[in-house]
Amino acid sequence: MAAMRKPLVTAALLAASLSASAAPAHEHGAARLDVAVEPSRVVFMLELPLDSLLGFERAPRTDAERKAADVAIARLRDAGALFRVDPAAGCKLERVELRSGALSLGGAATSTDGHDDLDATFEFACTQAQKAGFAEIGLFAALPRLQRVDVQAVTRKGQMKATLKRPTTRLSLAR
Ligand SMILES: [Zn+2]
Repeated sequence: MAAMRKPLVTAALLAASLSASAAPAHEHGAARLDVAVEPSRVVFMLELPLDSLLGFERAPRTDAERKAADVAIARLRDAGALFRVDPAAGCKLERVELRSGALSLGGAATSTDGHDDLDATFEFACTQAQKAGFAEIGLFAALPRLQRVDVQAVTRKGQMKATLKRPTTRLSLAR
């Protein structure tokens, strides 16, 4: 039983390691991406300052801002273009969840310090997730203001950290 249960712990392990991480939580031009590779799924958790997404960090006020927000949200929901897992893993996008107080998404609260984020979860169902040797990260193409992605990944083999800088798109998941 212990052997069967072990992979299911990775998401919880990731959450625990994230809260202990010293990386800055909110930096304009940057994003945090946490990746959990489990036997039958790969989950990407993105923490993105709204500045990196839109250039402003409050609810849209003008038609142009509303349109920019709608375009950005549509890009994030089109996660098949944002995250392409190694075809060997046989993954299919299953769920996208977006949360942002300023954009009235997911019931999130608005920040009180004038800096607002968008948090997103992208879940892929995979036939053989452990075979994923890499993932192509399309965030730079989708988000022109984004310059850097700080990645933390948890696979069955352990934890790893990586930094992706524009224009790099490939995240290695092999060790
Ligand atoms: Zn900010």
